[in-house]
Amino acid sequence: MSAATSSGTTGSSPTDPTAPPPLRVEGLSVRYGGVVAVSGVSFGVEPGESVGIIGANGAGKTSTLKAIMGLAPRQAAAIRLGEVDLTRTKARNVVRQGIGYVPEGRHIFGGLTVERNLELGAYSRKWQGDDDESLREVYRLFPVLHQMRERLGGALSGGQQQMLAIGRALMSRPQVLLLDEPSMGLSPKLVGQVLDSLLTLRERGLSVLLVEQNAWLTFEATERCLVMENGEVALEGPVDQLRHDPQVRKIYLGL
Ligand code: ATP
Repeated sequence: MSAATSSGTTGSSPTDPTAPPPLRVEGLSVRYGGVVAVSGVSFGVEPGESVGIIGANGAGKTSTLKAIMGLAPRQAAAIRLGEVDLTRTKARNVVRQGIGYVPEGRHIFGGLTVERNLELGAYSRKWQGDDDESLREVYRLFPVLHQMRERLGGALSGGQQQMLAIGRALMSRPQVLLLDEPSMGLSPKLVGQVLDSLLTLRERGLSVLLVEQNAWLTFEATERCLVMENGEVALEGPVDQLRHDPQVRKIYLGL
């Protein structure tokens, strides 16, 4: 793999007072007993930027997201959201500080209605009932969830369940959204729906960190990507540059 390149394209102006704060991860390592899953990884997500992390099975992508959320044993020089130090913050408080998380496998409650699933996403803050502005915003983003609000989560298609998982994470009013393999197990048509959802979030100026094995989807949905191999960042750059990297084309795009 060729040498790492650093770059940065920002979605919003750093002087915009409504812009979300930047996320900074410096020197993150994750160990499970003797297994080193992540080793000295550093990167940032600028306000309004969509950043992808691609890599093969076991490269350390999920562990990186879990460590940011406080769900994996992390050894980090620093994890910061703007001025807030999250290096030792527990998961519930990480959410309160403005980081939303859509875990791998969606984990929606199949026996609860769509609306109840969404309400549960507001657990980290005071729920305002049917008048809740976040609920209205999620329904504006994903009208199909409004149409299906009385249906059980388990009755939705895979793509709709992924929208529900994203919508639920948005209910905590995050400033940065972390998504773990939203295309997993979905047909190409439903992956297209997930991509539309991600592009909608990007248009709204939300900062996004997307972990995927599907490099095609990631390159469509993000501006800048990290390539992880064996727990380390092997390559980093703007998507337009990575698309032309011969190794990336061969290994991750199968071209
Ligand atoms: P995948 O796409 O399969 O989820 P990944 O890139 O997300 O892969 P991780 O799930 O972060 O990779 O795993 C990185 C390494 O850490 C792997 O070797 C994995 O076996 C190991 N690992 C992950 N979770 C645990 C755990 N709870 N206990 C022990 N080892 C773990």
